[in-house]
This record gives sequence, structure tokens and C-alpha cells, in this order.
Amino acid sequence: MQEFDLFVIGAGSGGVRCARIAAQNGANVAIVERQHWGGTCVNLGCVPKKLMVYASEMGQSLKDAPSYGWDVHINGHDWAHFIEAKDKEIARLNGVYVSLLKRAGVTSFTGNARLKAGNIIEITPSPLEPDAPTLIVKAKKIVLATGSTPVRLDIPGAEHALVSDDVFSLKERPQHIAIIGSGYIGLEFASIFNNLGSDVELVYRQNLPLRGFDTDLREHMHALIDMKGIVQHVETTPKKIEKTDAGLELTLSTGKVLKVDAVLMATGRRPAIDELGLEEAGIETDKGAVKTDSSFATSVPSIYAIGDITNQYNLTPTAIAEGHLLAEALFNPQGRDWSFETTPKAVFFSPPMASVGLTEQEAVKQHDLEIYSSQFTPMAQTLPGRPGKTFMKLIVDARSGVLLGAHMIGPDAPEIIQMLAIAVTASLTKAELDRTLSLHPTSAEEFVTMRTPDRKVPRAKASTSSGEAP
Ligand code: NDP
Repeated sequence: MQEFDLFVIGAGSGGVRCARIAAQNGANVAIVERQHWGGTCVNLGCVPKKLMVYASEMGQSLKDAPSYGWDVHINGHDWAHFIEAKDKEIARLNGVYVSLLKRAGVTSFTGNARLKAGNIIEITPSPLEPDAPTLIVKAKKIVLATGSTPVRLDIPGAEHALVSDDVFSLKERPQHIAIIGSGYIGLEFASIFNNLGSDVELVYRQNLPLRGFDTDLREHMHALIDMKGIVQHVETTPKKIEKTDAGLELTLSTGKVLKVDAVLMATGRRPAIDELGLEEAGIETDKGAVKTDSSFATSVPSIYAIGDITNQYNLTPTAIAEGHLLAEALFNPQGRDWSFETTPKAVFFSPPMASVGLTEQEAVKQHDLEIYSSQFTPMAQTLPGRPGKTFMKLIVDARSGVLLGAHMIGPDAPEIIQMLAIAVTASLTKAELDRTLSLHPTSAEEFVTMRTPDRKVPRAKASTSSGEAP
């Protein structure tokens, strides 16, 4: 039986980083992957989604081009061509991940891993290599990094709905799609399909999209969704889906029936734990997620968990950071630190939205605040006369002047907020932004030229509602 110092289950963002860093620090490491080298981000998430965003936004540039003097004839979008090009790029990235691991000296296995008592792992064949033999290996330490999987709501006809995994391999683009959920995935696909010319209906149970983000941004986003012609069914839940000769019928809590080609459930993700044998290994879970302490240890000494399987941050960069920290903690402690609390976030809507630090609703629970904001039409939209304003907001501690949060919707928001994340992470003050000269003409310069607060907000008493839905 092969024995390793470290065995990582799941070759996604967190698992690959953990395996590589452990191997680079002298450990004898193995990793197992069932199907997708590089995990959700590379295969069914961030990367193909961003390629879809680019594909969908090209159309807008082509529509704007005549106002800049171009003679453009648009003959439509070829979805099948795009999917083929996207698949080719993903296959290239799969290869990059495999060779990264090889170069680091990590032993790779393809198959389904299941924990057995006593740090034994059974690897059975998976669809990627169905004829591979079943193997049994042993490891001093094991890392669970199997990520998460889309949640399908339990309503009649749910099996007719797509989840995000399915969208990346659709043979045809639906002409009319209903999307359930107004989180990251719901909004990103609503925007992609809308940009490509589909009729999109967004069904969600709050009065505003993107619960958890700053309320001003949510209101701004609500208006942008309307402006793009995406129909919003707010404070509404889905009741059933029926298949008909013409397509699908989605019945809503309002009694309305949407006749569509496709329904996408974008209703969250849950940790992928079902086939790991957690019970047999004695690993505790909480609400479907693997329980860990601050050093990523599960309830079983020598077994650790990182990334979405722990249902904490559920973002690629946080999974990578967790994998890196864990590998170093186990094999070469460095005292490295990452500021998880100031992880920047982006929703790749068109235009995109991004945030770092506290929302006003969070900040006011602990601080007297000064709120600065700016709203303007991006210059690129002026010649085409395209509507839609950029919105920016800074949240500042009124006493110390420290930046608590920065939020933006508008072209390049994720690129700009990534840089402001440095300021928020370093607890820079508003005075330091004021001292910074503009780079003109840009949108980003607005963040260093906001001089007068829109309003001052006193710290909320403990009983005051955050304004967020429960
Ligand atoms: P989110 O948690 O962001 O949104 C889920 C949506 O589904 C919300 O609108 C939620 O409503 C709704 N919902 C959940 N349960 C029900 C229910 N029983 N009935 C009706 N509506 C329901 O999840 P996503 O699926 O959009 O994304 C999953 C995760 O993937 C994200 O949390 C994020 O971590 C990651 N991700 C990150 C991206 C990025 O960084 N750009 C892109 C895509 C995904 P309510 O708000 O009321 O709970």
C-alpha cells in the first residue's frame, strides 16, 4: 500500500495550492481528482463564466462602435462556436494544473476517494478513467478539499431546471429563460443571457437583489436590472415546473405562470461531502459543512478541510489562501497572514459590481460614519448615449477617518476595488485618499476626489435593525 505524508482529496483551487506548497516544503504528497482538474473555478465557475461575460459584452461594444465612426454589421452570436472555443481553453487549463502538480513532485490519482478508518483512503474509478483499478492508500495527514455543488430547490419538476454546471455545456442558448435566485450566479447569468439577446426573467424572494451587499448598491443594481430589460419578479418564490410541448412552465407564488425555454436554479451551493465517507471516518459536520477549527483541523486529528467544503467564505482566493496556510502550517510554519475579513468581492454583471470591507449596514453597528458617494455617466457611454450610471461609495469611520468599506457598480469596478482593497486592508484613512492625486481621465479617480460627505450617520443603538433581511 502506498503511503504519503499528505493526501489531498479534490484538485480544485484550494487542494492544488495545498498539495503544491506541501510538496515544495519537502512532504511526500498525493492528490486525487474525480473529474475536473482545477476544480469548479476552472471548469464550471469563475473562468468559463468570465469568458461568457466577455462573449456577451462584445455585443455591446459592437453596438456602440458606429457612434465612434465604425461601420459594423452584426450577424448574431454563434453560441456553439463560443462553447467549443471555451472548452478548448478549459482543456488547456486542465493540462496546466496537471503539469503544475507534476512539476511540484505531487503524485496524482484520478478517481473517487472515500475515507476509511485509520487514515486509509479508497480510490475507485471515476468517469474520467472508468477502467482504472481500485486502489487503497494511506496518509499521515489528509486534506478534504472537494468544494461545493449547486443546490436544486425541492419543488415539483425541479429535475427540469438547469443548475450553473449545466449552462457551460448547453448546446443552444435559450431564447427565454427564467432564473431563480438573485445572488452571484443568478445575476451573472441574467446579465450574460440578456447581453446575448435572450429574454430573461429573474425570480427572487427579497425586495432587492444580492442580499448581504450594501443597500445603496443593491438599489442601484435593481435599477440597472430594470434598465437592461430583465424582468424582475421580486418577493416571489417558485412553486413548480412543468414540461410542455413548447418548453417549460414555471409557476410562481404570485400565481403567475412563466412560459420559458429553460429555468436556471441559482439558489446557492452546498458542500460536496456526500461520497467522502465522513461518518465512517468520524468527521463531524454542521448544517452539511465539515466543521473545522481556526487551524483547518476537523474533529479527527490529522484530517483537515479547506475551501467550500467548510462553507465559510466560498470564494476561490480564500480557498487558495487556506490551502497555502495549511500546507505551510503542517510542513514549514512561516507565520504568514492573510486578511480574510477584507476579502474583496465582485459580481460580474454588465456593468460589474464590487465591494470590499464593511457595508454601511454592518459598519453603523460599531462606528459613527461619514458616507461619501459619487454617481456619473462613464465617458465611453457618452457618444453612444447609452444609459446607466456608475455608482461609487466610501464608508469612513467619522472619528478616526479610517476607510471601512468601498463599493462600486460600473465598468471596471472589480479592477478598481481590487486596488482599494489594499487601502481598506491597510486601514488607510480618507485623508490619505485625499492626498492622492488623480489619474485623469478615469473612473477610479472619483475615489480620490470625493471631498464632502453626503451624510453623517451616528452609530446605531444595539437594538437597531441592520436593514438586512434575516
Ligand atoms: P448565493 O447565496 O449568492 O444566492 C442564492 C440565491 O438563491 C439568493 O437569491 C437566495 O435568496 C436564493 N435562495 C436560496 N434558497 C432559496 C429558496 N429556498 N427559495 C428561494 N430562493 C432561494 O448563491 P449562488 O448560487 O448565486 O452562488 C453560490 C456561491 O458561489 C456564492 O455564494 C459565491 O460564494 C460563489 N460565487 C461567486 C462568484 C463571484 O465571486 N463572482 C460567482 C458565482 C458564485 P436569499 O437572498 O433570500 O437567501
